[in-house]
Parts: sequence; structure tokens; C-alpha cells
Amino acid sequence: MDVLALVYQYLFRWVIAPVSDQFLGLFDLNGRLCIAFLFTSYAIAYGLFRVRRSRGQTDAYTFWQFIGGSRVHFHPSALLDYRYYFVRAILKVVLVIPVVGLVDPYVLRSGDYISFFTRLWGARVQVEEHVALSLLYGLGVFLMQDFIHYWAHRAYHSRYLWAFHKVHHSASVLVPVTASRVHFVEKVIERLIDIIFLGAYAGVFWYACGGEISRYTLFGVTYMVFILNALAANLRHSHVWLSFGARVEHVLNSPAQHQIHHSDAPRHFNKNFGINLSVWDWMFGTLYVTQSKPEAIRFGTGEADYQRYLTLYSLIVTPFVEAVGKLRQLKPLSGVSVVEVSSVSATARIAPRAVAPAAGTDAGPAS
Ligand SMILES: [Zn+2]
Ligand SMILES: [Zn+2]
Repeated sequence: MDVLALVYQYLFRWVIAPVSDQFLGLFDLNGRLCIAFLFTSYAIAYGLFRVRRSRGQTDAYTFWQFIGGSRVHFHPSALLDYRYYFVRAILKVVLVIPVVGLVDPYVLRSGDYISFFTRLWGARVQVEEHVALSLLYGLGVFLMQDFIHYWAHRAYHSRYLWAFHKVHHSASVLVPVTASRVHFVEKVIERLIDIIFLGAYAGVFWYACGGEISRYTLFGVTYMVFILNALAANLRHSHVWLSFGARVEHVLNSPAQHQIHHSDAPRHFNKNFGINLSVWDWMFGTLYVTQSKPEAIRFGTGEADYQRYLTLYSLIVTPFVEAVGKLRQLKPLSGVSVVEVSSVSATARIAPRAVAPAAGTDAGPAS
């Protein structure tokens, strides 16, 4: 009996609790995958369907066909995404939280910055709470987070981190849950850079202005992310082509732009790293704007990977195998010529996404 109780206790802690939390996440306004946000995204998609249908711009007879139909939503890649969504919850409890917890005590927090500045320049007069201040703080968090995630995303596409980020790109069809197809190493890095940079920002901001932090965020996320999630964020990982037009896409990242980021075509490689804003892509030369007419694109990382990334094992373990393989390749490089080195790095940019399996990407017919 005691053994059974112990087993249940462990099972509850490491499996049942995280999986049920993940399920409840579908109702959490903190996450993009909240049912409410899915609803608003697909309401926009339905509007697009009606408009395109009336203009004869789509061959889809039904809305289900328009969003990709069974071919997309029951594709092996999508089925894996659904399973991984819940397995990831377990990985979060077993790996991400402990690793972040280990580093966490060594990271400077906003309070550390405030006391540092107070010792340096003395205490500042606390500004009274004001809605403008909270909006300014929220805007700053949003801009900083989006900016650092842009650069982190660029780093994930580099030679050694690509093996882990490839998990996300290996999806050969896109469904909203694909957003959660992220390797836990990437998640750990993301958490740590968030803690480090946002702690510094909050410290500087609140030393300068005074006040408290938590109350200035809406549902735990900044209001900007909330607004963008409520719009069409879930269509980024979908087969519904929604372009914002070239002008807006210099600032805001559209679903079509993120679909371009998932494309297997070399002309689309290393474009549109932005999360919510594409202004960073514009500033740093990685912008690719889209037209309202859907582009014919295929998603994935190439024919060779199509069969490789169809299991939970491949999403969790394969990146480590690949990363170790690349590190091994590194050793002989110290003795080779510059020509050889440059050819290796060129391969690293091009090889990860050579040819991909067919997957209907526009809003055309799919059953
Ligand atoms: Zn990427
Ligand atoms: Zn994506």
C-alpha cells in the first residue's frame, strides 16, 4: 500500500499534475494557445474564407478545407505536435524548471539593480502610480522581450543551436500547437535570457520611476502581447495565408511572414526571425514581406528529415546526437585550410533545410 501511495505521489507530481496543468493552459490567457485566442484567430480565418470564396480566390468549398482539412490536422507531423504538447509539460517539470532553478539564484533581480543604483546615486523620489507609467513599463517589456527574442532566434539558426531549433522547423505541416514544438534546451535559454534582461530593465525602470512591477502587467503578460495574441497569432502556425501587406509588415510580423520563415525554399532561409514585431528584421536585414496572394511554399527541413522527426524520441534526443556530431566535426577543423572552413560554414547555413516534403501551404483546397 505504501509503495502504491509512493508511486501515485511520484506519478502525480511528475506526470499527472504537469499534464493537467498543460491542459488547463488552453484556458490560460497567458498563453497564445488559449481557447479564446484560437477562437479569435479562426474567426479571422473564417472572414478570410468568406471573402476569398466570394472573389473566387480559393478552391476550398468548406472552411475545414480552407484551413487545411484532415490532410493537415491529422498529418503525422500534426499528430506528433499534439502528443508533444503534453509530453513537453512533463519535460518542463523534470528538466526546464530544475535547470532554470539552479541558475536563478545567481541572476540579478530588479531589486538588486534598485539597491545598487540607490547605493550609487541615493534614493529617488517615488513617482505616484499612474496608468501612463504602467503602459510605458508594459511597452518597454514588450519591446525588450521582442528584441532579445529576435536575436535569440537568430542564434538558434546558427550552426550549433540549429540542431535544437530544428525540432520546431521539422514540422512539415503547421497547426497552432506547432508553436509548442520547441526543444527544452531552447526553452531553458529563453527563460534565462528573459530573467536576466527583464530583471535589468525592471530595475532601471523602477529606480528611475518608482512603483511596483507585477500589477502593471495584464494577466501576467504585457498588454501588447495580449492584444497581438487576441488577433491572429495562432494563424502563424497554420495553413491560412494572412498577409498584412508590405507596409505594415515592416513593423508587425504577419502569419504569412512566419510561414515564410518555415519555408524550405532557399530564398526564404534566414528571413523573418521576429516574434511579434518585424521591425527588427527590417533594421537588421532579415525582412521578407508578403503579398495578399498566397505564395506556394512547403514547410519542413528537407526530405531527409521527414522520416527522422516523426517520434517523440526524435524531438527530444536527436538534437543532442546532432549537436555532439557537429562538435566532433569541429576538432579536425583546427588543422584545415581557410577554404575548407568556409565551405563547412556555408554548408551549415544551407544544408539544414534543403528539400522538404509536399505540404499545401496556402489557403487552397485540402481535405
Ligand atoms: Zn526559426
Ligand atoms: Zn514557428
